[in-house]
Amino acid sequence: MGAVSDREENGLQLGNELESWFNSRAFTDKKTVTPWGAPILWYGTYDPKERDEFYKRRNTVIGMTVFAVARYIDRFLKDFLETAEKHFMRGQRVIYYVLVDDVSRVPWVEMSPGRTMTVIRVPKYPRWQDISMMRMHHLSQLIQERVRSEVTYLFCFDVDLLFIGSFGPETLGDLVGQLQAGLYPARVKDYTYERRPESAAYIAPGRGDYYYHAALFGGRPDHVYNLTRACLAGVMKDKASGIEAVWHEESHLNRYFLEHKPTKVLSPEYCWDRTSRSYIKYPRVKWIPEEYSSVREN
Ligand code: UDP
Ligand code: MN
Repeated sequence: MGAVSDREENGLQLGNELESWFNSRAFTDKKTVTPWGAPILWYGTYDPKERDEFYKRRNTVIGMTVFAVARYIDRFLKDFLETAEKHFMRGQRVIYYVLVDDVSRVPWVEMSPGRTMTVIRVPKYPRWQDISMMRMHHLSQLIQERVRSEVTYLFCFDVDLLFIGSFGPETLGDLVGQLQAGLYPARVKDYTYERRPESAAYIAPGRGDYYYHAALFGGRPDHVYNLTRACLAGVMKDKASGIEAVWHEESHLNRYFLEHKPTKVLSPEYCWDRTSRSYIKYPRVKWIPEEYSSVREN
C-alpha cells in the first residue's frame, strides 16, 4: 500500500480526506483526536455504512487472532466466536486464527459466507501469566508464517470477551490501540504503568499519553509484528532480570505505544468492563473478568 492510501485511511489530515469519513467535531464533551493527530473513535464520529463500503470495494481481508488455552477453551471460546460472527466486521471477509492447546475441544461455530476459521495448536505454559505473555511469541510467529500473506489488517483479542455491538471496519488502521475503560477518566500520573526502572516496561513519572488495554490491539500485519516482537523482547529481558511487569504484556504494550503512537485509537466503547460508565453510551465488547479464580490454574 502506498503512502496516499495510508494517509487516506489513517493519518489525520483534518480538512482533507479524513473529513470525508471522520467527524472530529461530533462531540464537545469527549476528545476525538489525540495530541499527535490520530482519530479517537466514538459512536457518532463516523458513518458505518460508508466505512463498510470503503473496505469492501478494496477486497479487504481482516484477520483476527484469539487464544484459548486450558480452561479458557470450554468457558469462553464458543460465546466469543458466536458473538463475533454477529458483530465483528459483519459483511466483511474475515479469517479467524484460533490458537488453542487442545484442538479437539474447539467448538463448532457456523460462519457466514466469506468468513473462515483456522485452528493452530500452541503449548500450555504452567502459569497463566506465561500463557498470557507468551502470546506475543506465538503471534509474531503466526504473523511471519501466515498472516502477513493472508490478510490486510489484523486484530488480536483476549477470549474473555463478548461482542455486544457493532465492531466494524471503522477500526482498521496501521496501528490501533484501545483506551482501557476503567482508567479512561484517571489522570496520567495515576495510570498503572510499570514503575520499576529495572523492568523493560518502565514508564517514568510524568510520561504517558493514555492507558491502553491489551485485550485488543491491531493494525497492518507488519506493524502488529513489530509490536509483538518488541513486547516479547521486553518480557524476555524481564525474565532474565528476574522481574515481571505489573500488568504483564499489557505493561509492555503501554511502553510500546508510548514510543510508537497508534494511528487510530478506539474509545472505551470498544471494550467495556461492565460497571456503569457515563461516558460509554454504545458498548461493543463486554469484558467478563470476574471468573479468574475458576478459570485460572495457578
Ligand atoms: N489465556 C488463556 N488461558 C489461560 C490464561 C490466559 O487462554 O489460562 C489467554 C486468553 O486469551 C485470555 C488472555 O490470555 O483472554 C489474557 O488472560 P486474561 O483474560 O485472564 O487476563 P486479563 O483479562 O486480566 O488481561
Ligand atoms: Mn482478558
